[in-house]
Amino acid sequence: MNTRKAQQVITGQATTDGAGVDLVRVIGQPALMDLDPFLLLDAFRSDDPDDYIAGFPPHPHRGFETVTYLLNGRMRHQDNAGNEGVIEPGGIQWMTAGSGIVHSEMPEQQDGLLEGFQLWINLPGAHKMDRPAYQEYDATSIPTESREGTAVKVISGKTSQGTAGPVNQPLTDPVYLDVTLQADTEFTENLVADHNAFIYVINGEVALEDVEGGQLTLARDQLAVLGKGDTVTLRGGDQESRFLLVAGKPLNEPVARGGPFVMNTEAEVRQAFIDYQSGNF
Ligand code: MN
Repeated sequence: MNTRKAQQVITGQATTDGAGVDLVRVIGQPALMDLDPFLLLDAFRSDDPDDYIAGFPPHPHRGFETVTYLLNGRMRHQDNAGNEGVIEPGGIQWMTAGSGIVHSEMPEQQDGLLEGFQLWINLPGAHKMDRPAYQEYDATSIPTESREGTAVKVISGKTSQGTAGPVNQPLTDPVYLDVTLQADTEFTENLVADHNAFIYVINGEVALEDVEGGQLTLARDQLAVLGKGDTVTLRGGDQESRFLLVAGKPLNEPVARGGPFVMNTEAEVRQAFIDYQSGNF
């Protein structure tokens, strides 16, 4: 067994996106532009409606997937194919933008706490122009695996104890776990050895081995890029802690970004703008 060690620690960067939503960009900023196949991770958490009420009015995507996981609050989603729905607390929306979608993502609340994440996962070039698709699950459809002192919500992937999440994406084989550790509890999980992986701490503190063989403690809102290996072991602090553990198969393809479009080449990004502006999405 080869244990994964923390390779790099990232503290998110405060920024604004959409029509003026305050969020923290963790992946997709200078300190960590991407972690193949993950292109972006935004975290949002505010009980001040001024931080989120403007939402994300209609905008396009092409070439990748957007994964929205809400912990608190409600978000309404609408797209140009007539799909519409509300993501509720504990719900996941896994949207494969594929060849193109125009959608809006707006808070379905005037006040109260809005908290969650949006992760962008790349698609291989051969599938960037696939038809758009959704995998949407509410909190009751996401299994929770109970271990001693640990609760693991399995959104995607299959744990070593056999709990499988509802979302399937064979192109990148993602694991997406939301793990709560009681105080002084240890959590070990297997991962495919050569997939890229990270943890992101939502609450409390989580410790793991670093590349020098020491112990590194991650605080709330910090991300650790995990080195390669087939297992990861994480230890909770003296309070309850909660974190995301995410892994996926690297695509090892060129990445050309153009705002809401992520393709393999600049020419493909230009074509995406042309197709969007000419109403061909
Ligand atoms: Mn979007």
